[in-house]
Amino acid sequence: RHPDLDPSDGAEDPVEYSLRPQRLVEYIGQEKVKARLDIALQAATRRGEVMDHVLLFGPPGLGKTTLAHVLANEMGAPCKVIQAPALEKKGDLAAILTNLEAGEFLFIDEIHRLSAPIEELLYAAMEDRKLDILIGQGPSAQTLKVDLRPFTLVGATTRAGLISKPLHDRFGMVHRLEFYTRAELAIIANRSADLLGIHLAKEGSEAIARRSRGTPRICNRLLRRCRDYAEVKGDGTITEASAEACLKLHEVDDLGLDALDREYLQAICHKHRGGPVGLRTLAAALGEDEGALEDLVEPYLMQVGFLDRTPQGRKATDAAYAYLGVKSDPGPLF
Ligand code: ATP
Repeated sequence: RHPDLDPSDGAEDPVEYSLRPQRLVEYIGQEKVKARLDIALQAATRRGEVMDHVLLFGPPGLGKTTLAHVLANEMGAPCKVIQAPALEKKGDLAAILTNLEAGEFLFIDEIHRLSAPIEELLYAAMEDRKLDILIGQGPSAQTLKVDLRPFTLVGATTRAGLISKPLHDRFGMVHRLEFYTRAELAIIANRSADLLGIHLAKEGSEAIARRSRGTPRICNRLLRRCRDYAEVKGDGTITEASAEACLKLHEVDDLGLDALDREYLQAICHKHRGGPVGLRTLAAALGEDEGALEDLVEPYLMQVGFLDRTPQGRKATDAAYAYLGVKSDPGPLF
């Protein structure tokens, strides 16, 4: 996988951080989600209450963390960010929850990866703002009930199906983030270019948007690669031609697909006659992790219409065959 096309690698670099929209009006796209959240924010403000807990799901890099910060900013509250796998003991979560200020937002990324005991601790915290803490061991152990200050939990996950039902049910709102359109990505590229002082021609922003796999994080990364290229090979302005030449150099094709996407499609089309084929078989053939294929490769291939996920397994579409430049396999005649 080309590193710039891997949106799961969210290692916060300072430039990416500086590009984050701060307010809802600056947050491009996701219009339906924004409209619903805007109502929830205004209603909570009028009642002087905290906003309901929100679950956000969607592929990596679509702006879940950014949206959590935006919501907190809109409520004039701080936002604490934690990664679910970093919580090892119940005490880790208890310490965080008891230290939250009134109205504070808590963003838990990869919330499907909480361990069962930690997840259970969260239930009462979300529902009744109470924490049951066990003190001591054996017969002398006592349960201490601690009242928590009102807070809003924003949970993020790449797939809603990975969340347990009891946890899912405790969120007042569940929103799915969609891939961004090319027009939205072009706006994001232009906004980032303005913030970073990059000269970006209109056709240049469209060339980058086309190859960004519907994902703002990738769009911002490709923009920076194209800036380097334009500064070294041209006069510093990213034009359509310089963006295309740069991304060709990085082996990102016109649709934003890279070697791994092509190998994935070739595995289905050539080795498995177009499918259906199971994810495990594909992962083994490609030497990749099943979860990585499910999060990072398949959603975008489905988005561009190259892949169908059926109960029997993964199937390549006619468009995938056309993309690979081969004829689809008619299958056995008898
Ligand atoms: P992950 O779950 O992998 O952390 P994420 O979905 O939380 O990913 P973010 O870190 O929020 O993704 O967003 C990645 C980058 O994309 C941010 O730095 C931000 O600059 C940009 N971005 C995301 N969404 C938008 C948006 N709607 N408008 C403008 N820029 C955006």
